[in-house]
Amino acid sequence: MEGEVYQKPIKGAHVLVLSYPLLGHINPMLQFSKRLASKGLKVTVITTTSISNRLCPQTTGDSSCNIEFVRVYDGYEEEPDKVDVEAYLNRLRVSISLSLFKLLDYYKQNSINFYPTPKMVIYDAFMPWVLQVVKKSGLEGAPFFTQSCVVNSIYYHAYKGDLITSLSGSDLVSLPSIGSLLRVDDLPSFVSTPSLYANALVKVLLDQFSNLEEVNCLFVNTMDVLEIKVVDWMASQWAVKTIGPCIPSMYLDKRLEDDKDYGLSLFKAQTDACIQWLDARESASVVYISMGSLASLGGEQMVEIAKGLEKSNKFFLWVVRALEESKLPLNFKEKTSNKGLIVNWCPQLEVLAHSALGCFVTHCGWNSTLEAVSLGVPMVAFPQWTDQPTNAKCIVDFWRTGVRVKVDDQGFLNSDELEFSIREVMEGERAKEIRSNATKWKQLTKEAMEEGGSSDRNIEEFIAKLLSYS
Ligand code: UDP
Repeated sequence: MEGEVYQKPIKGAHVLVLSYPLLGHINPMLQFSKRLASKGLKVTVITTTSISNRLCPQTTGDSSCNIEFVRVYDGYEEEPDKVDVEAYLNRLRVSISLSLFKLLDYYKQNSINFYPTPKMVIYDAFMPWVLQVVKKSGLEGAPFFTQSCVVNSIYYHAYKGDLITSLSGSDLVSLPSIGSLLRVDDLPSFVSTPSLYANALVKVLLDQFSNLEEVNCLFVNTMDVLEIKVVDWMASQWAVKTIGPCIPSMYLDKRLEDDKDYGLSLFKAQTDACIQWLDARESASVVYISMGSLASLGGEQMVEIAKGLEKSNKFFLWVVRALEESKLPLNFKEKTSNKGLIVNWCPQLEVLAHSALGCFVTHCGWNSTLEAVSLGVPMVAFPQWTDQPTNAKCIVDFWRTGVRVKVDDQGFLNSDELEFSIREVMEGERAKEIRSNATKWKQLTKEAMEEGGSSDRNIEEFIAKLLSYS
């Protein structure tokens, strides 16, 4: 895993980067690691056993960008059974704490072989307990938030207990950090309907704020202009550094020449099939639909989506993960093969960047949202759970780059509504405005990551400060 482009002199600081074992967390932290390495730091990415065995390399070139990888035990060698969430999370915490402590000790004992020795651990904010281990080992720690500042600030209010008070009064929620009213169904599902989830899971989200007074810096995968009011509010509480969007440089500033994809994925993308199929389509003509790496729709919902796609009469590229395929209507693939391509996994960034894309029907995972914003793609938002409803609110009302589908009280989307929403984004009255907003945000995103842009400056300032402690 070597890449000449990134062979910059090591500036005398070594950081370790530790992510929570979920693809949507590993990818942005890996991208951030590449940025730090490209600016001369030595970076070691720590992956954990339960996910590292399932990660496969992506193939478009060398994306390692001169970073090293080490693997530590997280309590599981295989994909864990998470039915007892509390037991899973406890085992993860105990195992990672112990493995990390041993790893940091190993670096200390063998410092001669590991120059420069690690100075800081950047850890996923979902694991605030890492800070204790890091401090015990005499290092600095900085949390990395993989969700937006709007979402983070809502969790913070919930953590402090402010939100519960607001929620009890009305359907509209006003938060000191956001400066605009949110409906209850715009809130992350762990906050709007916590009773649907294990307490231990809700606690993971809220505890992200449990020890922030002990850190000198925290990173968020966002950019200032995207949510400036909330960024400013967060910055008034903590030393926030917005450093995103953490997506491959090739799609933004292009300064990291070989950085064309995330480099790791849980599934193998059907790249050639997707790109050849898109190449044969006209500009802005295709509906791309994907629900990310985790969401699983019910069988009836899949049938209804299939109907909606057919009714829209648009070309469509639909990602249906292998385990979900049996939910497709019988012979749907064959019946619609002149209009659609269904794959188990696609190279999403390449797809979003393709000129044939007309819109993205998305579950609004934060990575997918940031990718679509960065590539200027109009969205049809169909959020499922966690932070996705809040991301949908930002897409529709703050950035105005898409519409949100209306669903019934069970969250069910019917085919007419899907057809209507696709048409609204691709050809309706608002289509022009939405596309022009999407293009504007694409430009702003690029600027944030270019030399002197807000995120680039924050990264440079962080490195300068880190080096000043040497
Ligand atoms: N993705 C991909 N190919 C696909 C579908 C998704 O590469 O066919 C990637 C996508 O680019 C994004 C990630 O998977 O980086 C999904 O992350 P997100 O936060 O959007 O959703 P999650 O999977 O965490 O629900």
